[in-house]
Amino acid sequence: MAGTESSALVLNATYEPLCVVSGRRAAVLVLSAKAVPVAAGDGVLHSSRTTVPVPAVVRLSRYVRVPHRPSVPLTRKAVFARDGGRCVYCGAAATSLDHVVPKSRGGAHAWENVVSACGRCNHVKADRGIAELGWRLRTSPAAPQGAAWRVLGSRRMDPRWAPYLGIDAEQLEEPA
Ligand SMILES: [Zn+2]
Repeated sequence: MAGTESSALVLNATYEPLCVVSGRRAAVLVLSAKAVPVAAGDGVLHSSRTTVPVPAVVRLSRYVRVPHRPSVPLTRKAVFARDGGRCVYCGAAATSLDHVVPKSRGGAHAWENVVSACGRCNHVKADRGIAELGWRLRTSPAAPQGAAWRVLGSRRMDPRWAPYLGIDAEQLEEPA
């Protein structure tokens, strides 16, 4: 059955991004009137009585209160999304994470020190700092802010979610 492998973005009643669930789970939320479809996904879900299109984005019918999450988990996908899937040193497609100040020199594994990088820059840089190489960062890394980041980095992401996350669709594409 098509659509069962897909993921769907769940928005709160206020359109605030909440979480990501399976496309099947999102369709069940729609079937049980707990959510309304906002953007169509791929495929359909067959239940005993009806057929419902699998949504890519749903919005909850009732507002749910969510506890504030103080910090965004530092994951490869989230860093790639923040950095636009590009190497912060040369702008090529990113393939790896790099510690700006190398861990071997006490650099932290933190949002302010972890960036996306291409394999070539990562290899050339090795255990050196950027000052030694005369390199500059295209952007200064920082922890992402805002509700959109609650859903980034943990699962496969769909460019159709972008308008609801307030970011560019290309940031959700898997970097090559
Ligand atoms: Zn590079």
